[in-house]
Amino acid sequence: MPGPDIQKMTVPGVRQLQPYLPGKPTEELERELGIQSIIKMASNENPLGPPARVRQIIAEQTHGLARYPDDSGFQFKSALAAYLGVDAGQITFGNGSSQVLELVVRAFVQPGERVVMSEYAFVVYSLAAQAVDADLVVVPAKNWAHDLETMAASVDANTRVVFIANPNNPTGTWIDCVALEAFLKRMPDHVVTVVDEAYFEYVDDADFPDAVALLRRWPGLIATRTFSKIYALAGLRIGYAVASSGITEVLNRVRQPFNVNSLGLVAASEALTETEFVQHSRRINKAGMVQLCQGFQKLGLEYIPSKGNFISVDVGGPAEAVYERLLRQGVIVRPVANYGMPQHLRITIGLEQENDQALTALETALAR
Ligand SMILES: *Cc1c(COP(=O)(O)O)cnc(C)c1O
Repeated sequence: MPGPDIQKMTVPGVRQLQPYLPGKPTEELERELGIQSIIKMASNENPLGPPARVRQIIAEQTHGLARYPDDSGFQFKSALAAYLGVDAGQITFGNGSSQVLELVVRAFVQPGERVVMSEYAFVVYSLAAQAVDADLVVVPAKNWAHDLETMAASVDANTRVVFIANPNNPTGTWIDCVALEAFLKRMPDHVVTVVDEAYFEYVDDADFPDAVALLRRWPGLIATRTFSKIYALAGLRIGYAVASSGITEVLNRVRQPFNVNSLGLVAASEALTETEFVQHSRRINKAGMVQLCQGFQKLGLEYIPSKGNFISVDVGGPAEAVYERLLRQGVIVRPVANYGMPQHLRITIGLEQENDQALTALETALAR
């Protein structure tokens, strides 16, 4: 008996969608291999885990779980606004910043309208744009990085949203203040520019832009950030957008009620005060980055210099086989063939011991 034609029923944008490929969960590899000492360097999580005080606060909050969270996230929003130096009316919470990125597309892009992004840029942008059947323009990268010149030239009267990842995932490439402002200067009033700063807290270079600080001068700008990366709360799904009050009001119209959970709100609120933890995480990341880069050099491998908590390394041949050999040694990294980078593996910076283990496993994997 022929069932319904699901493909035909599906809206055009979703019909062609390739689902997001997450990093392999540790539990899954443990089941497959029957080994315990697995290290996961696949999803750009903070290897330290959440700070003790944050874990304690989460444990103390479980009694309230029968209740819906405060939909406005009032307390945390006030604290975050003060921290960022903006009004609470400029913040939109998301179930991870991925959700905020999707809200932007839902609020501003109709089918056939243009969304501009870079080749090798974070895949959530294309997923969100394709789902609404947008005219998605993927601008070829230059040395793995966003080519802002060509991206600006791709913006036309039909363009609604431009996505910029700074630093970008999976390449780790970045854009400095001068380049970003030169780009923003070229954006017409009918375009919203999203600067995705998921790894912002990992960068402390003086010429690295702070999109939140730029909001005052560029009203079409949206900055997005997350508690999933340096704040070590990926499992609780808290991200946010900062924008003008006008844009924020619109984003909050499409946001579902209670889209962020109560544990996430209290945990993120506490995490925001953990300045030493953030500094420590940044230091560990920098040291680990040097360690991995030196290891790659010893192995004769090229890598893309990165400002994130991850690095993409060219394994000199098809990366899938190397990925599999690493898995069998209990090391989970991320293949990025779905980004059009079939020779690269993206490796999240781990603790010193984990980086060591990953390099040893990589040497073994390449020796075959
Ligand atoms: C990880 C990541 C995000 C957001 O992740 P969430 O967990 O949804 O907050 C956003 N942008 C980039 C570039 C990322 O790598």
